[in-house]
Amino acid sequence: MNAKILVIDDVADERGMLTRRLRLRGYDATWTSSASDALQRLAQQRFDLVVADFDMPGGRGDGLLREIRASFSLCELPVIVATKDPSPAAMGAALDAGANDWTAKPFELDWLVTRMAAQLRFLSEFRRVVAAQARLQRRLQVRARMEELGFGDPKRRALLMRELQNELPTGSVSLVYQPQLHLRSGEIGSVEALIRWNSPVLGPVAPSEFIPIAEETGDIAALTEWTIERALRDRERLASRGRPVRMTVNLSASLASDSAFASRLLDLMGPHAEAVGLELTESAIFGNGEEAVANLARFAASGLRIGIDDYGSGMSSLAYLQSLPVHELKIDRSFVSRLTQSQRDPLIVRSTIELAHALELEVVAEGVEDQETLALLRVMGCDLAQGNHVGVPMSVEGLLTFLEDGSVGRLNAPLDINEFLKRAIIES
Ligand code: C2E
Ligand code: MG
Ligand code: MG
Repeated sequence: MNAKILVIDDVADERGMLTRRLRLRGYDATWTSSASDALQRLAQQRFDLVVADFDMPGGRGDGLLREIRASFSLCELPVIVATKDPSPAAMGAALDAGANDWTAKPFELDWLVTRMAAQLRFLSEFRRVVAAQARLQRRLQVRARMEELGFGDPKRRALLMRELQNELPTGSVSLVYQPQLHLRSGEIGSVEALIRWNSPVLGPVAPSEFIPIAEETGDIAALTEWTIERALRDRERLASRGRPVRMTVNLSASLASDSAFASRLLDLMGPHAEAVGLELTESAIFGNGEEAVANLARFAASGLRIGIDDYGSGMSSLAYLQSLPVHELKIDRSFVSRLTQSQRDPLIVRSTIELAHALELEVVAEGVEDQETLALLRVMGCDLAQGNHVGVPMSVEGLLTFLEDGSVGRLNAPLDINEFLKRAIIES
């Protein structure tokens, strides 16, 4: 591809001929006679190089150069000044104002092309170094993040990355499903898909260990596509047995703002979008700004249900969430697991439920570990409950048995400690 150069020069005579000869030598020249037009073009288009007449009448010479340098560094956009006066004083002024080199005026084609080629070689070398530095910086950040997350052992990390890349097709990665109890109907209407990896080399590896690694390496996209395909296939299986539950899949923060991934995900869902929910953490939306919000809107428009995972562990306010196409709030299990012991948490959970309902959001409590917590959540008007007490994450086979053998019944049995629970709410 030809290099794009902007020529700032007020002599119009030779433009046509010079433009043609420059094109033959690999340069596409755009001409302008005015300094203000030049600055505007530089702001709007990408040029590889500028050739500027230094002594244009009224052309502000060094003033224009300084303005260009205010936006572009010496190494981002080379500027070659053209001058009739190659005196040391004039050249000193040009270099001082930010020129990279000079050429004669009127233009002498071979000279000009030699100087431009030298500057472009330097520019491409500079860009290569900057890109290498950015990669190094990224690697250092990844390493620091791994250490922060406790993946300090570089050998294990390297092993995990290598293993993970080879594992998807081998069957050692699988999905388990954790049931969600609808508290008013007493039925399991949905399940959360959770990934499991039982590595033949490393043994079981927790998602909290390998998901952040997959996020850092970029493997998370393939892993999530696999998860969605598998969840949809398992859902078909459940539906064929008369149990068409909704599947909820976790979406990593790094994918929330990836529009190409969003398109692939919507393709994968096809007509099944309404049978699937996505869980995103608050930081996935906050940290990723406009792209994430735009992707959320596309998901919601296709019928996907959007839930905010681990709500309460981040910084978002319900008022902000109201402006997003979100359907469900999942209260972080740190609040739920202490519900019956702490003074403060029931208050937080109850007011969160009330506020969420006022905003027409459904509320899921995760981490429900005992019957008291379940009963308390029911009294508080919570919509759905998930946790080891309702059901541990299980294979699709296990889920079918769970749905068919009446295990849910025990969860809906009335409790004689209701009075105690009501008192607990009033006190809190
Ligand atoms: P999460 O989405 O908040 O999932 C809930 C986690 O809480 C699961 O851990 C689940 O096993 C655990 N849990 C459920 N009920 C209880 C309970 O009553 N008590 C306690 N103590 N824990 C309970 P898991 O499966 O280890 O997953 C951890 C995290 O890993 C998930 O948190 C999610 O952020 C991530 N993850 C899991 N699968 C996937 C996946 O397919 N894709 C992505 N991107 N992330 C995933
Ligand atoms: Mg989740
Ligand atoms: Mg969660």
